Amino acid sequence: MANKYVYFFGGDDTEGKTEMKEILGGKGANLAEMSRIKLPVPPGFTISAEVCDHYYKNGEQYPENVWEQVDENLKKLENVMNRKFGDPEKPLLVSVRSGAAVSMPGMMDTVLNLGLNPESVKALAQKTGNERFAWDAYRRFINMFGDVVMGVPHEEFEKAIQAKKDERGVKLDTELTAEDLKDLAETYMKIYREHTGEEFPTDPKEQLRKAVNAVVRSWNTPRAVKYRELNDIEGLLGTAVNVQVMVFGNMGYNCGTGVAFTRDPASGENKFYGEFLMNAQGEDVVAGIRTPEPIHNLKKEMPENYEQLLEIREKLEQHYTDMQDVEFTIQDGKLWMLQTRTGKRTIFAALLIAVEMVEEGLIDDKEALLRVPAEQLNQLFAPILDAEDRRKAHDDGEVIATGLPASPGGATGTLVFNAEHAEEYTAKAKAEAEKLPKRERAAFLEEQGSLILCRIETTPEDIGGMAVAKGILTARGGMTSHAAVVARGMGVPCVAGAGELDIDYDKKTLAARGRTFKEGDRISIDGFTGEVFGRPITVKPSEILQVLNGEMSPNDSLLFRQYEKFMGWADNVRKLGVRTNADTPRDTEVAVKFGAEGIGLCRTEHMFFEGDRIVAFREMILAENEESRRKALDKILPLQRDDFEGIFRALKGRPATIRTLDPPLHEFLPHDDAGQKQVAKQLGVDVEVVRNKVKSLSESNPMLGHRGCRLGISYPEITEMQARAIMEAAVIVKKDELEVKPELMIPLVGNVKELALQKEVVIRAFEDVLAANGLTKEDIPYLVGTMIEIPRACLTADEVAEEAEFFSFGTNDLTQMGCGFSRDDAGTFLPEYVRLGIYQKDPFQVLDQEGIGKLVDMACELGRKTNPNLKIGICGEHGGEPKSVKFCHRAGLNYVSCSPYRVPVARLAAAQAVLES
Ligand code: ADP
Ligand code: MG
Ligand code: MG
Repeated sequence: MANKYVYFFGGDDTEGKTEMKEILGGKGANLAEMSRIKLPVPPGFTISAEVCDHYYKNGEQYPENVWEQVDENLKKLENVMNRKFGDPEKPLLVSVRSGAAVSMPGMMDTVLNLGLNPESVKALAQKTGNERFAWDAYRRFINMFGDVVMGVPHEEFEKAIQAKKDERGVKLDTELTAEDLKDLAETYMKIYREHTGEEFPTDPKEQLRKAVNAVVRSWNTPRAVKYRELNDIEGLLGTAVNVQVMVFGNMGYNCGTGVAFTRDPASGENKFYGEFLMNAQGEDVVAGIRTPEPIHNLKKEMPENYEQLLEIREKLEQHYTDMQDVEFTIQDGKLWMLQTRTGKRTIFAALLIAVEMVEEGLIDDKEALLRVPAEQLNQLFAPILDAEDRRKAHDDGEVIATGLPASPGGATGTLVFNAEHAEEYTAKAKAEAEKLPKRERAAFLEEQGSLILCRIETTPEDIGGMAVAKGILTARGGMTSHAAVVARGMGVPCVAGAGELDIDYDKKTLAARGRTFKEGDRISIDGFTGEVFGRPITVKPSEILQVLNGEMSPNDSLLFRQYEKFMGWADNVRKLGVRTNADTPRDTEVAVKFGAEGIGLCRTEHMFFEGDRIVAFREMILAENEESRRKALDKILPLQRDDFEGIFRALKGRPATIRTLDPPLHEFLPHDDAGQKQVAKQLGVDVEVVRNKVKSLSESNPMLGHRGCRLGISYPEITEMQARAIMEAAVIVKKDELEVKPELMIPLVGNVKELALQKEVVIRAFEDVLAANGLTKEDIPYLVGTMIEIPRACLTADEVAEEAEFFSFGTNDLTQMGCGFSRDDAGTFLPEYVRLGIYQKDPFQVLDQEGIGKLVDMACELGRKTNPNLKIGICGEHGGEPKSVKFCHRAGLNYVSCSPYRVPVARLAAAQAVLES
């Protein structure tokens, strides 16, 4: 038997179903599914994506007997409808719609009203008793077919219709008469002839073949290829082609068309949400020619159809157990469903819908966990525009443009057009704030120091200005433009590609919708929706943060309550522990609120920069011998002890992994003349001494130089001081009857002997402090372990594990040293590498599982062989990136550690890892 390429849908004859998305495409599979569950769907058939696949694999040839199968299905359609293709009395009209397994703008547009020709247009007029409608349908068809199938520029048709309107002295398309439209159809034909060099096909079968062919060919247009590339869409067969009987929403005032979501896609609220237009055809709603009405107004206009839609809404949600996005059309009071798919939604809606659907019994909590994208979860914590204030601005017509919601969050601020200005403004505002009484500073800075940086597009030179801005707005560029990517990385709200904005750098103005704004004016942007407002709107911290910080009661925040419930499910499921990277008590507190179960990385070097400490630390560096070094270290010890005490208290008994000094010493000395002079003066030495020290510490490759445990081995007294400070702090906290679990971590170990030497120093200091306080390891259970960040440590992990009580993968350095390029220098070629697919993702953002992942796997296996109790974690930035977290779960790690704001992301990703395996 020949391969089956065409699948019918409509009533009991339906052959496809949702599960056949891969070959029928999303649109086709769901049209079939809706027919199966007896929703009113105009019948039709779907040409499988396998045809598209075959076409490109065989030198642009269609498989044998596709067209026979199309003809058979066409006949069936004619029988069901009791109409005939091209019939002069009862013509069958269809739409031709593209549709791959993944929804994909950039592919071919839909052709409506196919099957019309000079004969059937008359029949249509007669049958409907509406001559104007028939000619309007015809001229639209010529336009769409010409534009979409044959590439005739759409403007040509636009010009012609404008000329007609001018000639008739009217403004609107709807004011043209049947006679006008008939004329126009003829003009359109002429345009078609001029551009294609052929006659407009009158044979509907020829029209159909050409349209199908155009859909198949649209799969490989540069636009479509680019879209797939940008959105990581791979492994699809191609596009399917849907041929469907036409229904008309534009035959009069008992007709209409609309789009709707079964729940609110922005807030997630369980209410029907959508828009419709009376007397209009499909595309009109989206095209924005007329302003559509909210869906609940349909209740007044066509109560029966509205009721029916509500029933369908219920049925669809029960059937698909997810929020749906639908298209419908009403012809002569009869409702038809034209599309359904899983609705896109904001993270707020994703969370709310998932939790409520569990409560409604539609899905279970595990399914709910899989429905919320972990990589977007931290958008929940972005600042938001105050809802009330925002609505008012909306109602007052203050929306001056809509761009892409490129980076979430709301921002209000002073308009600036230049990144340098932004930096100057900020510096000036800060200086002025200093002059004010302390309690007024914050408010002043909030008002004067908040900037919206507005650019046509941004470039790497704008980074400084972007970093100080509260929000970023661009007129050009997409979701992956420089502005969008950088803003998301920085966590700054961004609206990108707001094409309506007319920006003039010279005049420093921005014009939109008839209004002009100057530098210094205040505007607002909403990075969740892409809207730009022409006035300031109150910005509030995210609701969840307000509750976590005790500024709002959980009773007042549904979002918070649902978030808590949801995260509770994640915690029940996950196997991986989640810790945080935190260097201060403040960060630690935040992270604990976000659910951190301890600190996975506390970097001590930051502590040396605060206040006067740097002076003592520099004294230590400049010391000529151990004795004077110890004297300087004695000054630092109590300061470090205070820091650790604060952190232990904030942790309330949770473990803390603290790393000993890691960066090379030269980073602590100034490299400029003035700075060196100042240090010399502070320390009472000759400036030559400082200069020489800087020279002697300089390295040609600091990343591979005198740093990490190498410092501790050269100067064991530094490690000793840090170990003492940690244990002394632990003792103080312990004496307050609080639990403490210090874990000291030696960085940059490549050879077990390095670890052994440092461990000896640490344990001696620990035991010394404990003994002096009459305590033992029983009272303060401590661990000594190492970072695994040098490939040699992975290769010899069995030996290293004999000395280490835990491993923590430092995947930043491990990636640098494993791949052989440094993160700081990779910017010149890495983006190109990613574009070429040499690396699929930036390995500093997403763990390179094939390469660096193998080192991780190997180290885990070797380490646990000699030390079965070995605790293993990761503290590189990858610890908060969902794909990498899932890898860590599979690799059998005990925990991941990430920045405070990413803790919830890691908790969810860890749960998903369990559910996906
Ligand atoms: P897109 O993927 O761009 O939404 P569609 O194929 O869904 O393209 O169609 C574009 C518009 O045409 C939609 O509004 C749709 O409802 C309408 N449409 C498509 N097929 C038909 C049809 N057979 N009858 C009436 N309207 C249709
Ligand atoms: Mg479209
Ligand atoms: Mg559609």
